[in-house]
Amino acid sequence: MLDTPRFTEITPTADIRASRHGSRAKCLQRLVRMDLPVPQTVALPFDTVRDIAEGRMPDLSMLISLFDVQPLLLSVRSSSATSDWGGPGAVLNIGMNDEAHAWLSNTLGHDVADKLYLRFIRSYAIEVMRLDEEPFIDAKTPEDARATFEEEMDEPFPQNIADQLDAVLRSMSRAWEGTSARLLRQAQGAPIDAGLGLVVQKMAQGMGPGQSGSGVVQFVSPATGEPQVTGRYLGQAMGRDALRNRDKALYLTHDDRGPSLQDQLPEIYAELLRVGDACRHRLREEMQVEFTIDQGRLHVLDAVRCPRQARASVAIAAALARDGIIPRSEALLRIAPNVLSRLLHRQIDADAPRSVLTRGVAASPGAASGRIVFDSAAAQAALSRDEPCILIRRETSPDDVRGMHAADGVLTERGGATSHAAVIARGLGLPCVTGATGLSVSHRHKTVRLPSGRLLSEGDVITIDGSSGEVLDGAVPTQEPMLDGAFRDVMTWSDDVRDIGVRANADTIADATLARTFGVDGIGLCRTEHMFFDPVRLTVMREMIFAEGPEDRAAALERLLPMQRDDFTELFDIMSGLPVCIRLLDPPLHEFLPSEGEGERALAAALDKPLSEVKARVKALQEYNPMLGMRGVRLGIAMPEIYEMQARAIFEATVAALRAGADVRPEIMIPLVTARREVELVKRRIDAIASAVQAETGTEFTYRLGVMVETPRAALRAGEISETAAFLSFGTNDLTQMTYGLSRDDAGRFMSTYVNEGVYPEDPFQTLDVDGVGELLLLGAARGRQARPDVTLALCGEHGGNPESVSFCRLAGFDYVSCSPFRVPVAKLAAAQSTILSNQAAK
Ligand code: PEP
Ligand code: MG
Repeated sequence: MLDTPRFTEITPTADIRASRHGSRAKCLQRLVRMDLPVPQTVALPFDTVRDIAEGRMPDLSMLISLFDVQPLLLSVRSSSATSDWGGPGAVLNIGMNDEAHAWLSNTLGHDVADKLYLRFIRSYAIEVMRLDEEPFIDAKTPEDARATFEEEMDEPFPQNIADQLDAVLRSMSRAWEGTSARLLRQAQGAPIDAGLGLVVQKMAQGMGPGQSGSGVVQFVSPATGEPQVTGRYLGQAMGRDALRNRDKALYLTHDDRGPSLQDQLPEIYAELLRVGDACRHRLREEMQVEFTIDQGRLHVLDAVRCPRQARASVAIAAALARDGIIPRSEALLRIAPNVLSRLLHRQIDADAPRSVLTRGVAASPGAASGRIVFDSAAAQAALSRDEPCILIRRETSPDDVRGMHAADGVLTERGGATSHAAVIARGLGLPCVTGATGLSVSHRHKTVRLPSGRLLSEGDVITIDGSSGEVLDGAVPTQEPMLDGAFRDVMTWSDDVRDIGVRANADTIADATLARTFGVDGIGLCRTEHMFFDPVRLTVMREMIFAEGPEDRAAALERLLPMQRDDFTELFDIMSGLPVCIRLLDPPLHEFLPSEGEGERALAAALDKPLSEVKARVKALQEYNPMLGMRGVRLGIAMPEIYEMQARAIFEATVAALRAGADVRPEIMIPLVTARREVELVKRRIDAIASAVQAETGTEFTYRLGVMVETPRAALRAGEISETAAFLSFGTNDLTQMTYGLSRDDAGRFMSTYVNEGVYPEDPFQTLDVDGVGELLLLGAARGRQARPDVTLALCGEHGGNPESVSFCRLAGFDYVSCSPFRVPVAKLAAAQSTILSNQAAK
């Protein structure tokens, strides 16, 4: 086998691969092939860079001899396999020395030469040799900077380009191996052994007289993806750093605020537009182009995928597909499903009164309200209680990622738009404000002091606005997001492709309406208990729980019946034409009872019973292990009146909605089943109620009765259970809890330790445990299907909105997944991607 060359000049025919030289090197080769004016470039593959980190330098004089200009100035940039994995920052103007300085003084003038030399000494000292920043920032002339260098290093500033390049390559290769760089890229999905390539390029930045300078240009808006030329250009060799200096830079397009490149150099501007267009068509992507103008001639130094926010990434992919540049399937594959959830984020209601506590960097869009927590364990505990929370940290580290997954928003005292918290939050689609002015976080006391001096403690409620950077007092009302044409295209194209259904878990009218907006295939889980938490209903529910015997209980249920019937009628109406799967009551009854003290006294007063009796009843209902106790179908069998009332409400609502003209497709689901007999008992009663309602109303209807498979035994016995069930819907929340013997409500306390120690690769409540729980799913599905080939298979746990889990279910032949409405678009796109990839693999 031939050894890979230690470096390769990028020519149209050179063997340059993204998997070996990185994506920047590959992209530069594409630009070269497009005949764009790219300065001479040499690519160092991953292996060479690894060797350099270990002290084995390639022959630099040979590398340098490939460039035949005098004076030679080079740049080195990183080139990882995927640009998202980052890499050390570029080092420019390598080769600057006394001789180059003298040459530049003659051609460009002393000032420019001084600036370039000073800037290079500084960046070499600080970024390459890692010397203290301060003395070099204080140095005002190259002479000062050189003297400082000599003082700090006990050796003169290197004059030889090979020595400078040697140090730069070493420093960049080692930076890539550093712990924080590794953790950051791994958070972006990079494998442990991800390599770094480097590209060494001849500098072409305005060294001569005439029109010279450098700039960057983008052809779409990074925020919206709409066509728009933005960027900056800086004349006369002031260098890239100065591009950040808005005052000195030119606008690219004509602009009333100041001079523009379009006005001053119209031919170059037109040429840049042609470069953008060529990139779009040939590279099939919107690129950000870095360029220089050297004595009136345009050079394209580099092109990277245009940075883009969530909305732009969808808009760009959709526009490329609409313009026929890429197929729709590729557009769908280019959008990370979780990006969609960012588009769907709520915004603060513009008309809502807001009391601003402080402001920070708007690091990740969307608004979130919740109780404040100060660590991952508390965030995970809040999630398991279904309680929104905002994670506050001084700054975040990879240890906090678990907590960020669980939180609804993140607020940090320190950091900025690219700090760890910001980068990770954007990846997760989580609202985030960083660097909030004047906050003082105490992790030990779990408090945060505001600029006003006010102290907030764990549990206090705040709202953060990751789009404006504001931190607000209390829970501020929010507005639903605006969904634009590109989003709708992506949803339509996903619907056209996907071959697995996506339903929503929706219990309220608001949820169902939202789900309908997202074009769901129905409701996959309506948790009826949520309908009882309204204060009026709660009292009736409590009366039912406190009933002395069946008669009293029947009276209370009689009052609950019309309330449930109205809820269901409205749901059926909204979901007309689509199935609505209603789950019978699931939680243990004590969840409806007040906690000790004030609540019990109020209940005694409401029920007109002595406090002692209320206390005794509450105590009697307490269980050692409520999640494994009297809940789900056990409740339905021990107190059949409850399920009978619910079934009657469902059927009467069916009739009412049918009469109102809706196309009603009711489904009833029995929770926490463990045995066939449970299903038989419940089914017999429900069928009887259906017949009674049909006879009473003279209206015929059909319905489907199914089972929630959320105990391991139900999965194992799915064969016999499916004989009496039209569908099996896997409740992977409880199934995960019971398979692991791991409490859903307490796992947060140690989950981060477990994941950090590598006991579990991921939190199994967030990412389906394919090996264990997944095996139960496969086994249950196979047994269910064998006994009843037409049984419908579904998943309705939280995993239904997780892209990998959607793909797992699809490959296992499930009929649909069901997830919370906001995750529906994510699930649809994930379903479409899985279908496209399967089709591609089959070709
Ligand atoms: C489940 O257990 O997966 C489920 C969907 O039900 P719940 O979360 O209501 O227990
Ligand atoms: Mg459950």
